[in-house]
Amino acid sequence: MHQFKYKAKDLYCEEIKIQDLVNRFGTPLYVYSYHTLIDHFWKLQRALTEIKPLICYSVKANSNLAILAALVDRGAGLDIVSGGELYRALKAGCPPQKIVYASVGKTNAEIEEAIKKKILFFNVESLAELQNINRIAARMKKTVNVAIRINPDVEPKTHKFITTGKITNKFGIDFERAYGIFLIRNRLANLNICGLHIHIGSQITESAPYIAALTKMADFIGRLKKIGVRLEYLNIGGGLGIIYDKETPQTAHNFANKVLPLLKETKLKIILEPGRFIVGNAGILATRVLYIKSTPKKKFIIVDAGMNDLIRPALYDAYHQILPLKAPQNAARRSEKADVVGPICESGDFFAKDRRLPRLSEGDYLAVLGAGAYGFSMSSNYNSRTRAEEVMVVKDKVFVIRKRESNSDLIAHEMIPPFLLRL
Ligand SMILES: *Cc1c(COP(=O)(O)O)cnc(C)c1O
Repeated sequence: MHQFKYKAKDLYCEEIKIQDLVNRFGTPLYVYSYHTLIDHFWKLQRALTEIKPLICYSVKANSNLAILAALVDRGAGLDIVSGGELYRALKAGCPPQKIVYASVGKTNAEIEEAIKKKILFFNVESLAELQNINRIAARMKKTVNVAIRINPDVEPKTHKFITTGKITNKFGIDFERAYGIFLIRNRLANLNICGLHIHIGSQITESAPYIAALTKMADFIGRLKKIGVRLEYLNIGGGLGIIYDKETPQTAHNFANKVLPLLKETKLKIILEPGRFIVGNAGILATRVLYIKSTPKKKFIIVDAGMNDLIRPALYDAYHQILPLKAPQNAARRSEKADVVGPICESGDFFAKDRRLPRLSEGDYLAVLGAGAYGFSMSSNYNSRTRAEEVMVVKDKVFVIRKRESNSDLIAHEMIPPFLLRL
């Protein structure tokens, strides 16, 4: 459920007509619904209430400070994957004790900073990293909490670019190696191995992959108990899928019903790291139709947003629903198939292919739905395009949460060597 709906003839975000927003702020424009964001967080929190989980929103899905602050305000923790995300998390007011840090390639500087800031724990992805954190902790005279990220080798049945829990993926440690690590844990004197972590992929629409992974984890926890390992946390990652097209993803409630028995049995504190599930349907990308172009084979709707604003179609062949801000009249009769494309010099620069859309004209506006997760956070300045403005709607109020970039922002960090300056 989300709060982007037609009322009479106009598409609204909560109680604001999106046409008014594009008139005021221009396009391309990311529009987020505060209540959709919060509702999704609460849905998961409520469904799992018996185990009082810590929900650490995955910052990389959408790392805008206002999004983070809105979730932190509701009690969320944050899942980070870089020093930059640690910086954002703290700026958004997240208590360090609610921050967990995953990544296969943490640098020494990032590790030191996270230790200094006293985050809850690192999700560690290799023996080499474990030894490195131990070394750094020893130098800093600290004991550092870590969870071992397990690669449970399960098939999440999602796009191959977004599986992360198969044995051929770079993430996590297989069960046997992890077991070996627990056997030598006394040699890692400055680490407290307090938990296990899995994150098996993204846009997972069924519970079966989670059940498969958690069943393996339960066995493993049993084996660890036998050698005297006492754990505190089980971090089950993120990956819950959402509706982009015709998916029928598990609801928070269904997911909870399926996993709760397994989770309760572990008697560990449960952490989740959802990203897409919370923010995916809480954002749209509004864009203006620049030109309509017909070729012998195709019709192209050329819009002012591009793959630099939203790369998911190019990267994953992802489907995004596209709606005109003005509800079409007699939609079926006047619809036609077209490609919706951006202005960038790449054939991968598209939002939809052979999509049946109402007949559009230059100057019309479109909303690309489901753009809240991995939208702005994956945006770039490719083709020297300034990044879009982002606004957050709260009922009938709107707040700018990131200003549109200017041309001077584009070159802010660039320098011409003096010998080339001919001024
Ligand atoms: C990306 C990521 C997540 C969030 O994934 P979603 O599919 O957006 O829920 C959670 N945990 C880790 C470790 C990740 O890398």
